[in-house]
Amino acid sequence: MPTPPHAIGFTLDPLDRVSEKRDDEAFVAALRDEPSTRFLLFVNNVPLFKRTNGRDGGHDPLFDAHEAAKPGAPLQTVFLGRDADKRSLFALSFDEDAKSQFEGDSVEAVELRPIAMQGLVPAPMVSALGEARSMLDWHRRHRFCANCGQPTDSAGAGWRRVCGSCGAQHFPRVDPVVIMLVTDGDHCLLGRQPQFLPGMYSALAGFVEPGETFEHAVCREVLEEAGIRCTDVRYFASQPWPFPSSLMIGCFARATSTEIIVDRNELEDVRWFTRAEVAAMVDGTHEQGLSAPKPFAIAHHLLKAFATGELD
Ligand SMILES: [Zn+2]
Repeated sequence: MPTPPHAIGFTLDPLDRVSEKRDDEAFVAALRDEPSTRFLLFVNNVPLFKRTNGRDGGHDPLFDAHEAAKPGAPLQTVFLGRDADKRSLFALSFDEDAKSQFEGDSVEAVELRPIAMQGLVPAPMVSALGEARSMLDWHRRHRFCANCGQPTDSAGAGWRRVCGSCGAQHFPRVDPVVIMLVTDGDHCLLGRQPQFLPGMYSALAGFVEPGETFEHAVCREVLEEAGIRCTDVRYFASQPWPFPSSLMIGCFARATSTEIIVDRNELEDVRWFTRAEVAAMVDGTHEQGLSAPKPFAIAHHLLKAFATGELD
């Protein structure tokens, strides 16, 4: 099995999450007050950045305590962890009004996806922003108890919600998604979703359902979307995908049938591609202009491993 490269986005978590200390309120409060502590600020799931060196400069997502206090009390606070230099990082969410508090200070809100895909901040910071986005989005959407309907409160440094009415505890969710490259000798199976960029094809993917193993989910999704039967499912690598809380589980599988029946509800097209064609798509040199996902996405690395023969 080929080694997953570091280029996969959201996989370079720079933080020690210190998860065993999350319930120690005094410990977490002391970290929050340390001068070296920094804060990631979000408004409606969109991170705020300080623009450094004017319009052509960089995007700095790290705010100090003084800067982070400008918009007033945050809606949510999550302790993300500490970096290698023991500097703590917290994520704070604010409502829409917060943005105006920064006007004139060269602060702007930019969606995380383009920030991440264009590499506008270093890869480890992209991972931390992804962790923050997933957690703050979870708080936004889980304010009421799924058991009794009453409001819940944040606990455990932001890693749990507790219902004061029925006592139920609620934990942040992760939604597993299998993404798989199905191969048949020198061919592999790729599909197109209608919203993809023109000419782009990628590995098939789908959510894992309750009661399924990853292997079952791979075979079910491939049969459902392309009518192809497969076997020999092998794990490659995984990728957190914080839109809002997926975990992409990259796999390879071997086809045992070849006749494609496309599920038009999900996909615009599914085809078999030769190894040479996939190599050209990954390199951006395909004669008809067909393309593959960029290195930021785990799909790119599934295709590349097949194209370069690393899989064999
Ligand atoms: Zn409840």
